[in-house]
Amino acid sequence: MEDFRRLRIGQGMDVHAFAEGRKLILGGVDIPHTRGLLGHSDADVLAHAISDALLGAVRGGDIGKLFPDTDPAYKDADSLKLLAAVAAFVREQGYEILDVDSVIAAQAPKLSPYRDQMRQNLADAMGVPVENVGVKATTTERLGFEGREEGISATAACLCARCS
Ligand code: MG
Repeated sequence: MEDFRRLRIGQGMDVHAFAEGRKLILGGVDIPHTRGLLGHSDADVLAHAISDALLGAVRGGDIGKLFPDTDPAYKDADSLKLLAAVAAFVREQGYEILDVDSVIAAQAPKLSPYRDQMRQNLADAMGVPVENVGVKATTTERLGFEGREEGISATAACLCARCS
């Protein structure tokens, strides 16, 4: 029972709008598409949702606080590097990352061909085994902003454990 008291859950979500002339980066994969996502960083909505889930588990605020979008240092930043920094912060707080799962909501493009590479990239960034990282994708049946292809959203959940 005592071991269960060491567990913390985290939840994260993020949204970015589509824009012309931008790359579509999801889970660190450069995915061929007609448009990409708008953002101060590379706008990797999946890496951002997972980062916020991790920060939630250790009650560490959110990535907007850690990496302000007013800071030029993060302009076009590689969000896998931000995720790696968040994972390091989680460990500095005395927690281990046990498991992460996530969902991307996008009407297009089809994401299943890129799922395994996204999982590997995210796992490498966080320093956890790939079997502890889940990535799923869904459409929203053409409903809402994702369904109208105005943007992409992602949600993530994680389980962390306090080490001592
Ligand atoms: Mg974001």
